[in-house]
Formats: sequence, C-alpha cells, structure tokens
Amino acid sequence: LPRPIELLTKALADTSSVRSKVEVKDAVVHWFKMDLRTYDNRALSMASRKAAEAGVPLICVYLVSPEDFTAHLRAPVRVDFMMRTLAVLKKDLAALDVPLHVETVGKRKDIPQRMLALMASHLFANMEYEVDELRREAKMHGMSMEVLHDSCIVPPGLLASGSGKQYSVYSPWFRAWVAYLHSHMDLLLDVFDPPTKNPASVRKGKHSTIFDSEIPDVPKNKALSTEEKKRFHALWPAGEHEAIDRLNKFVEERISRYSERRNFPGDACTSSISVHLAAGTLSARTAVRAARDKNKGKNLDAGAEGIKTWISEVAWRDFYKHVLVHWPYICMNKPFKPEYSNIEWSYDMEHFQAWKDGRTGFPIVDAAMRQCKATGWMHNRCRMIVASFLCKDLLIDWRLGERYFMETLIDGDFASNNGGWGFSASCGVDPQPYFRIFNPLLQSEKFDPQGEYIRKWIPELKGVQGAAIHDPYGRTGGLSKSAAGKEGAYPQRILVAVQEKRQ
Ligand code: FAD
Repeated sequence: LPRPIELLTKALADTSSVRSKVEVKDAVVHWFKMDLRTYDNRALSMASRKAAEAGVPLICVYLVSPEDFTAHLRAPVRVDFMMRTLAVLKKDLAALDVPLHVETVGKRKDIPQRMLALMASHLFANMEYEVDELRREAKMHGMSMEVLHDSCIVPPGLLASGSGKQYSVYSPWFRAWVAYLHSHMDLLLDVFDPPTKNPASVRKGKHSTIFDSEIPDVPKNKALSTEEKKRFHALWPAGEHEAIDRLNKFVEERISRYSERRNFPGDACTSSISVHLAAGTLSARTAVRAARDKNKGKNLDAGAEGIKTWISEVAWRDFYKHVLVHWPYICMNKPFKPEYSNIEWSYDMEHFQAWKDGRTGFPIVDAAMRQCKATGWMHNRCRMIVASFLCKDLLIDWRLGERYFMETLIDGDFASNNGGWGFSASCGVDPQPYFRIFNPLLQSEKFDPQGEYIRKWIPELKGVQGAAIHDPYGRTGGLSKSAAGKEGAYPQRILVAVQEKRQ
C-alpha cells in the first residue's frame, strides 16, 4: 500500500497544473493547525504573498474538532493552551487587518467540506504527518490547495542511508541530518516573514464580521476547573511572544550548562519549549537558528558543548517525525518492531493507577508522575525513568503509558511520545536490546543526588534526610514501615508488597 504521505504528494502533484490556472477569487485562506504563529510559518507566509500578488485579502481559519481532540487524546491542559493561543493569534493577526475565523466542526471527516464551503479558491496549510491528517488532505480535491513541509527542519523523505534506505537508528540519521543541513543551509536560515497587512477595506467587506467572532469554548469533556486554570495559566502563558521569550531566556541563561545539567530534574536547566513546538507557537527552525547564532554561526555539530548537545536534542523531534512518516503503522497501536507484537503484557489496573497517581513507593517515579499531573510537563530523564518502570518493572503494556501521557501532557506530540515509549519499552527504533532496564533507585541517586526534586513533589518525604530519600523504607532508615499504612503517609513499594503477598 502507498504510504499516506505518498497519497498526499501524488494528489498535490496531480492538481499542480490546475492550481496555477485557478483564478484567485475573494480571498486566499491559510488553514492553521499545529502552527499557531505568524513568525517563520511557511504556509502562512506563502498565503500572504499569494494574496498580495492577486490583490485579495488573506483570511485565516482554524477548525476546532472535538473529535480531533479525542482521537489524538489531547490533554485538557493542552486544549486549553491551544484555545488561549488562538486568542493571542487572533489579536496579533487583527493588528495586520487579517481576520481569524475559528469554528467548531462536529466530525473530523467534515473538515474538507467545511474548508470548501469557506469560500477559498486558494488554500494554504502546513503538513501534519499523522496518518489520518495526511489521508484527509489527500482527499481534499475541488480547490487549489498547497500543503507544505514546515514542522521539521529537514522535511521527511530527504535523508537516506548509502543503500537508499530510511534510517531507523538515530546516530547515523543525525550525522546525515547535519550533513544535509550544512549543504542546504537555506532550510535553516531562510526565515518566513509574517503576513503583510491586508488592505484596510477588509474590515468593511464580506469578511468583516470575522474580526468580531468569538473563539468557541473548550469542549465540555476537555474543560479545566477554575483552580487548574489558575495554576496552568501561570505556568504556561500562551502565544508566540511567550515562546520567543522562553527560547531567548534559555539561550542566554542556560544553554551553556545544558550538556552537564540536562539530566538533573531538580535543576530546571532544559528549555521547556516543547509546549511551544507542539502547538507550533515556535518553529523548530527558529529554535535551532537561535542556538546556532549563540554558537557564532558554527557548524551544528561543532563549538560549545551545551549548544551542540541541545541542537542534537531538538533533532530527535525531526527524527521521530521521519520515523512516523516512513513507518505509518506505528500510528495504529503497533510497535515499530513487529516481532514484539505478541508480548504478554500485564493489565494490572491497581498497579497502573498507583503509577498514574505517583503512589508506587518509588520516590523518583512518584515525584515525576506528580510533576506531570500538577504541571502538565515532565523532565525528559524522568519520562524515561517512569516509562521504563511501567513497562519493565510493572510489565504493563507501554501503550497504556503512551495514552496516559497524551491525555496529561501539555506538550503531547504523537511522534515524540510514541518514539519515547518505543525506546523505553524496547520495541521502538532504539537498537538497545529488551533487557536494558532503568533501575529507579540508581537513577534517583545519580540524577537527584540530594533529593531536591523528590522533596519538591512528595511532601510526605520532606522530612526525610540524606540518602534515605531514595528509598525511605529501606535499610538506610528514614521512615518506619509501621507508619506506611497510615493516612497521608508515603506508600511502601508496590512491587515489594506484591512479592510479600505472594510469599
Ligand atoms: P529540551 O531538553 O530543552 O530539548 C529541546 C527540544 O528538543 C524539546 O522541546 C523537544 O522538542 C526536543 N527533544 C528533546 N528531547 C527529545 C526526545 N527525546 N524526543 C523528541 N524530541 C526531543 N516530547 C514531546 O515534545 N512530546 C511528547 O509527547 C513527548 N513524550 C515523551 C515520552 C517519553 C516516554 C519520553 C522518554 C520522551 C518524550 N518526549 C516528548 C521527549 C522529551 O522528553 C521532551 O521533548 C522534553 O522533555 C521537553 O522538555 P524541554 O523542552 O525542556 O526539552
């Protein structure tokens, strides 16, 4: 079967001659999806240029599909972030006399029809690489449509090994990624300008009412409580200006320490821009360009250690999207390595709930899971620890963990999340064998040596001193086992409890 991206590429090629002949009427439309920014947005910039050439206004559209939120398991915190971002975007675009029409569409399959009905003779959008999205756009005949690569720095399909195959291992892929960019620096350095101002008359014409239209409410099943709103809004201010500020602050203040400190969750030394890359309030190009500028324009794999390492981490995001495009079956609940399809996983829901609640009795795991629930974000080292713990210690199906992350994280991104879980469960692209297991105790001692991170997220352990923080009911002393069952007390290890029960 052709891959979904091949279907779309063919559909776009088939209509290319038609596209150039279609007369631009009324307006040119940019369809926003996961690219909620005006700066360095390829399709938006092209749409603006086309509109200016034809002397018609640029109109922007965003279609909210509650079904879409369910299919992609978008976390309420993520949906809320997107709606707040749309409000910022609407205001920024209005300053350019560009209206942003936001509409709720009942079913995902109605989106193409809705786009057709929305007047555009010319439509621009950036490509999303998930299977359903590629298929949906491949079916959108009947209008002149441009769907462009924007999300990755190097678009999928351009890198192949010496034998012409797609890379499934990161290190050789990364070397190819760097080499490709060094010979095609325009992919990184060309900045796509924000849209130009629409003619002021657009405010009086048939599109004028869009300026005053409201952003719809968050669908009921994704709504946050008042307390959650307060907490998340303070942690994650929305919009592209915030994204650029966050990036600049990181590059100025922390990137130089990144390679030494990035694995220590108590340090908060990473950029925390994943939320913006996931919503598209920041482009990955802009992020890597800022790091390269700080590195005085050096090659992407040269110069300051912190900068080099950070760029190689941002590249992981491209890598996992390339993997998704090439092996789309990973979108269908299947492991990357088909030989691991028949593993007999556990579905012990008591254990799974304890993991979700941060009550496994393994402090580093519990601290991380509580950070996730409280902030919608988790440090990368901790994502690896908790994922390994779920599928290598509790032996629970990694797909349950993958799903929970998407339902909880503000930066939930299918490709990166699936890649991270595949890595941790050893059935993804990681070439390491299945018996690589992260020992939560050793990870805790190594990456949170003073226990600052644990104490921050587990108030029950605030009073535990020294090394006992990593294993509070263990031999080094800390808490008395008799206290473990009391209300409000930190639980004992669930795995030990199971073993004791069996004995
Ligand atoms: P930084 O360390 O500052 O890195 C900068 C950017 O590089 C990140 O924002 C991210 O876009 C990219 N990046 C860094 N590490 C990775 C990686 N291992 N894989 C892919 N991209 C990376 N990342 C997501 O964006 N969304 C997810 O849903 C997601 N789920 C994950 C699940 C598991 C089990 C694991 C192990 C990792 C997951 N990651 C995910 C990757 C990574 O943990 C986060 O990107 C990172 O923690 C975000 O924090 P940061 O922005 O401070 O990262």
